[in-house]
Amino acid sequence: MAHLDLNEAVPACSETGVWLTCIECGAQFAPFTEVRYTCDDCDGLLEVRYADLPTWDDFEGRGVWRYDAALPFDEGVSLPEGDTPLHAVPELEAEIGVDRLRVKHEGMNPTGSFKDRGMTVGVRVAQQVGVDRLACASTGNTSAALAAYGARGRMETLVLLPAGKVAAGKVAQASLHGARILEVDGNFDTCLDIVQDLARRGKVYLLNSLNPFRLEGQKTIGLEILERFRTEEGTVPDRIVLPVGNAGNTAALYKCFRELVASGGLTPEDVPKLTGVQAEGAAPMAEAIEEGWDHTERWEDVETRATAIRIGNPVNAPKALPGIRETGGTAVAVSDEQITDAQRALAGEGVGVEPASAASVAGLRALRKQGVVDGDEQVVCLTTGHLLKDPEAAAVAGSDPEPVPGTTDGVLDYLRESS
Ligand SMILES: *Cc1c(COP(=O)(O)O)cnc(C)c1O
Ligand SMILES: [Zn+2]
Repeated sequence: MAHLDLNEAVPACSETGVWLTCIECGAQFAPFTEVRYTCDDCDGLLEVRYADLPTWDDFEGRGVWRYDAALPFDEGVSLPEGDTPLHAVPELEAEIGVDRLRVKHEGMNPTGSFKDRGMTVGVRVAQQVGVDRLACASTGNTSAALAAYGARGRMETLVLLPAGKVAAGKVAQASLHGARILEVDGNFDTCLDIVQDLARRGKVYLLNSLNPFRLEGQKTIGLEILERFRTEEGTVPDRIVLPVGNAGNTAALYKCFRELVASGGLTPEDVPKLTGVQAEGAAPMAEAIEEGWDHTERWEDVETRATAIRIGNPVNAPKALPGIRETGGTAVAVSDEQITDAQRALAGEGVGVEPASAASVAGLRALRKQGVVDGDEQVVCLTTGHLLKDPEAAAVAGSDPEPVPGTTDGVLDYLRESS
């Protein structure tokens, strides 16, 4: 993995100061003249590179496009996205026992997940390369975001979902925003295999996180966190804990840190430890970290209530594993029960998240108990999607409605008797 170094000479193929580099073999490609997702030579993952990297002073405005100096365009197909809250959670902070705990609630994006940050950039690139039919495989949130941003960009959208395994809120979004929903008899990894094939055959423009431009938009999660800490606390968080599915977000945060280090906006010692959390039933990244592998082994049978991270073959592992290792972070797996407990604890702070999102807090709890995370650390947990994405999971985790008579006296009697 010699090609994660950002110090390259601007290649001849780059007219705009933006190009694509293969992280495996270093081959370089022009970014917008042809549709391309992986390396022509070795099929390795591609990364977006820039002739100029911005510093903190270059950012102005709000949301994802505040950071246009770190993105391939200065505007996108926008709803708008980003600028999500960074919540203090005092009870959780005290219970887990860290110096400072903040929750970055990505569920507060326009379609209710961080996927919007990648989609605003990805759909802009689709316009640039001149395609008109967009597609993704999805555990749900990518399809909701693609459907909304595709509608906004006036493009046709096709989403492939694993039949019966997508939370109700997400299917509803994809449906109402006008995507064609193809329910595949198979799991997410099968859906991704098919959509990659369709893209290779030129039938659709792929907007999964294999598309390197999606990750550019998702870098802004890291930029928002670091900028808030800089201006409000004068510090940098020691650790960022996040749920991991395809490991796109992990890869995006790592790229954010590398670019900031290269531009002098962050010192190498200050880079937060990237800490990934998976569900026990779908944990190839946690396995690879534990075993010291430089790749993940595909898990054929995956199962977890946290459907957004029910993924057995994380496509961004070659970008994310070095990120976890080189920042001094780790990856861990938690049970569905631990995830539901964390979902309740977040809800008790007023922060409503879907199950996958709560994995970050469940993982932090586990790592703090094991002593992997120190008590003097400043930690940010990402919560990736909104509670209303998965109303069934919320109903299972929450309290049951209590039937009462239709009169005030009846309600008062009931409250007296049941207290
Ligand atoms: C997509 C998604 C994830 C997984 O993110 P990756 O970048 O694929 O690792 C986690 N949580 C939610 C809610 C998601 O929608
Ligand atoms: Zn290559």
